[in-house]
Order: sequence, then C-alpha cells, then structure tokens
Amino acid sequence: MSEPKARKTNFIRQIIDKDLTSGKHRSIHTRFPPEPNGYLHIGHAKSICLNFGIAKDYQGPCNLRFDDTNPTKENIEFVESIQHDIKWLGFRWNGEIRYSSNYFPQLYQYAVELIRKGLAYIDELSPKQIRDYRGSLTEPGKNSPFRDRSVEENLAMFENMRLGEFAEGSACLRAKVNMASPFIVMRDPVLYRIKFAEHHQTGNQWCIYPMYDFTHCISDALEGITHSLCTLEFQDNRRLYDWILDNISIPCRPRQYEFSRLNLEYTVISKRKLNQLVTEKHVESWDDPRMPTLSGLRRRGYTASSIREFCQRIGVTKQENYIKISALESCIRDELNENAPRAMAILEPVKVVIENKGQEEELLTIPNHPNQPKMGNRKVPFSRKIYIDRTDFREEANKQYKRLVLGQEVRLRYAYVIKAERIEKDITGEVRTIFCTYDAETLNKDPVDGRKIKGVIHWVSIAHALPAEFRLYDRLFSIPNPAVVDFLTAINSGSLVIKQGFVEQSLASAKPEKPYQFERKGYFCADSHYSSADHLVFNRTVSLRDTWKKLRS
Ligand code: ATP
Ligand code: MG
Repeated sequence: MSEPKARKTNFIRQIIDKDLTSGKHRSIHTRFPPEPNGYLHIGHAKSICLNFGIAKDYQGPCNLRFDDTNPTKENIEFVESIQHDIKWLGFRWNGEIRYSSNYFPQLYQYAVELIRKGLAYIDELSPKQIRDYRGSLTEPGKNSPFRDRSVEENLAMFENMRLGEFAEGSACLRAKVNMASPFIVMRDPVLYRIKFAEHHQTGNQWCIYPMYDFTHCISDALEGITHSLCTLEFQDNRRLYDWILDNISIPCRPRQYEFSRLNLEYTVISKRKLNQLVTEKHVESWDDPRMPTLSGLRRRGYTASSIREFCQRIGVTKQENYIKISALESCIRDELNENAPRAMAILEPVKVVIENKGQEEELLTIPNHPNQPKMGNRKVPFSRKIYIDRTDFREEANKQYKRLVLGQEVRLRYAYVIKAERIEKDITGEVRTIFCTYDAETLNKDPVDGRKIKGVIHWVSIAHALPAEFRLYDRLFSIPNPAVVDFLTAINSGSLVIKQGFVEQSLASAKPEKPYQFERKGYFCADSHYSSADHLVFNRTVSLRDTWKKLRS
C-alpha cells in the first residue's frame, strides 16, 4: 500500500516514544473499538489510521474489537460492513476479531468483585430518579436511598438481575464513588443495566448488559492494550477508566489518551445523525455517495490511499476544529490528477454536423494521460457528426469565452479545428444542431496560415457514443456546521443533479472504483449499484478545480 510521504509525529507518538525510552513498555499494543451501530465514517478513518498506523510503525499489534454492549442498536450488517471498510482502507487487525461481548463472563466477575469490596450496589431508583439525583455541573448529587445495602444483599440481587427476575428499568448496578464529585461521570455511574434484548453475538444468554465505561477499560486490560486512544469527549471518563482498573484485580494497566474528533464542514459525522439520514430517507443508503461514510466515499470514487493521505495531512492534536471539505477533495484530486486515465464525456449534449467532412470515420490516436506516456494511447473514432457540451457553445460571446462561438473557431480536443457556420433551433428556441466546417490540416497542429485558436473543447462521435447518466454531487448540507442547528433543516436540496449524456466507446468497460478524468468535467467512476453494460451511470467524485467557493460568493 502506498504510504503518505513524510509521517508526521504527534503528541501520542511522543508519549509512546517516552514510554519506550523509559522502559515503561517494551512493546506497543493498540486497538480500534467501533460500536457496530452504523457504518464507519471519515472520522473513524482518522482513528483507524492512528491506531493501526501506530501499531505498524512500532511493530506492535492492533486489535479490532467490536464494542457491542448495546444489543438494541447493533446488528450483524454493521459488524460486517465495518470489517470490510477497515480492510478496504488497507489495514489488517491482529488475530481474531474481538468482541466486548466475549468478555461478558469476566465482566460479570469483576462487577461481583466490586460489590464484594463495597464499591458497587444495586439501585432501585427509576432511570428518571437517577438523573434527578445526579445533580448538575453547579450542584452536587444526592445519595440514593439504596446506596448502603449490605454486600450480601447486593450480591444476591445482582445474581437475580442476571437471572431475569427484575423488570427492565427497575434496578441497575452502580459504582459507589462519590455523588459530590465535580466530575459528573464519577457520581456513582451505572455499571450494568437490564435489557431483555437478543444480542447479535450472545443471543439470549444475557439480560443484563455492562455499560461502555465499565466494559471498555476492562476489555483493554484483558487484551493487553498499552495505549487506549479515544476522542476528547471521553476526557472526564478517564477518571472512571482509572478508578475501575485501580479497584479490580487485573494485571495489565492500559492508559487512555484523548485526541480531537475529526469534524468536517458541510456534513455531519455522527452515526446517530447518519442513521437518521438513512432511516428517514433523506439519502438513499449508508453508502449514498453524498454520505461521509467510507462506503459512500468509496462509491463516489474516493480511493483508500486518498483517505489515508487526508488523515495524514490533518494530523492528530487535542484542538477541536472544523476541516474544510476542500482539504479532503484536494487529496483525491492530487492523486487522480497523477493516475486517472482521461476520457471524453458529454454531460449536456448538443449535435454538431461537420458539413465539409465525408461520411468516413477516422480513428484518432489519443493519449490516456497528457503527461504520462506510460499510460499509453487509445483509438477514438471521429466522424462527421459529433456531440459537444451545450455549455461549450454560444451564439455571441466576449473575448473571455474561449469555446465555440457562432462564426468563430475552436479546437476539438486531440482532433481538428472547427468553425461554427450556422445553427438550427427547435420551436422553444433551443439550439438543436450546430453546423460547422473543419480545417482538415489541423489534426493536432496549428493552422498553417498562423491563425490563433484559443479554446479547446471535448467531443464524442455520435455514431459511436454510448448513452450515460451522470450524477453530480454537491455538499449534503447548505451550511458549514449543520450540527449546531436542527441538522435536517439544513439539507441542501440540490445535493444531487442527474444529467443524461454520452461517453466515448472506451468507457463501455468502466467499473466501480476505477476512476477517470472526463476531460474538463472532473473525476468520475462507474456507480457500483446502478451502472451496467446496458446503462452506464457515473458518479462525479470531484470537480477538476475547487469551483464551489467561486460559485457561491
Ligand atoms: P459516533 O458519534 O459517530 O457514533 P462513536 O465515537 O460513538 O462515534 P465508535 O464506534 O464508538 O463511534 O468509535 C470507534 C472509535 O472511533 C472510537 O475510538 C472513537 O473515538 C473513534 N471516532 C469516532 N468518531 C470519530 C471522529 N469524528 N474523529 C476521530 N475519531 C473518531
Ligand atoms: Mg460510541
């Protein structure tokens, strides 16, 4: 896999270097712990590149662990898509896939240990009462009346919870920490709750499920993780992470370090919100090419290497910030500018008849890349009737307009110079046909009499053209930070524009994940759901330049 050129260091790598130099650790072990409650998004890519990247560079393992403690929100489709996306991004996890649910028996035993030590109790306050008793940032919480049950009673009740003798919401296990702690996570956090829900891994074996905070630190310790990397919203939870590991008998002692989440402008990066976009049908699916999911980006034509490069460029810090979409777009543009073969496609066709050309077709030799001769050439038929893009013609225009104008000349890309002589319109006044003449002496060379031809436009031969659908995408949201408002009200209704046009013959075999530059129009790839030999459908990955700002300002 191609690696980003210079690997930048970051504060986490500096901590690791120090831990290795001081002898605190002899080797490094990381993990990536997704909850299987949605598809992976570009924010996860940041975490994957960080965790797997560190493991690779320090020659240690990185585990894949499904953090699956909430059976009602999780399912096997998500478990599978996550594995697929990690592999696609170019990473391999250490050994078998882990599941937090693998540790349910041990987690139960550690909970019993806390109860025995008088550090956990069964609370019978309702969930609402628990919230009310918790206090606020300015007020301390209140102790639950059930806080001082005996160890024996707690043990028996916990066992009965496990056996299904309590109704959902009627009891839970809480850590006994400090209801007056300035850190709300430390105010007797819930460790276990009752859920009569079937689990995708453990079936109906359990009706009590451990909470994230209890599960995560213990799973890390059981797997021998040295550096447990998570996002900044877990900063306060680190106290609980340490409290739990300090109070149970577990030999390994991982440490948690937090970094800032990736936020991208004009989109939302939260599985909950993405899930809502899918279930309420604001987008077609998790892999809709407008989604910031890895599957959506892949379908749109982003390559794994461009996403790794993006993660490399944004770096890892503790600073919260919003990254511009143009930062992501420039990664794929830079890559495809180098390696995507060129082809010709007409998104809004208008017919051109070259009246002084005979009926015979010519096969022109056209380079697949203007400055990469090793990418070879292809034969493209040229004939009397061609399509050009409607936007490449005007009846009148000033000198700035470097395309075809009535009475003037333009060059057809890799072919001849043509001159627009007259036009024919339909009853609505729209140009139907442009009648031209061509200069037969200008195949890939300037006119002999020294006429200067300014513009170059692209074309396809009508007799050889293949019909194709083009899907042009814009930002999914119309404001930079849709998360600060009711995000559904900020959806950009023009985020998908579909055009029907034509492509050159060589694109008959276009495949998903195989990008092309359509000359002057952008980078495109065949759509993995809709494109077939009978009906070509292309997604625009990204335009050639960042024209967006210009258009809106
Ligand atoms: P979401 O809010 O989208 O559900 P999450 O943090 O709940 O995200 P998890 O499946 O729990 O999603 O995340 C797995 C790992 O990916 C975690 O370590 C998490 O910190 C990290 N992660 C999730 N979102 C981002 C992001 N935007 N930027 C960087 N890392 C992220
Ligand atoms: Mg989560």
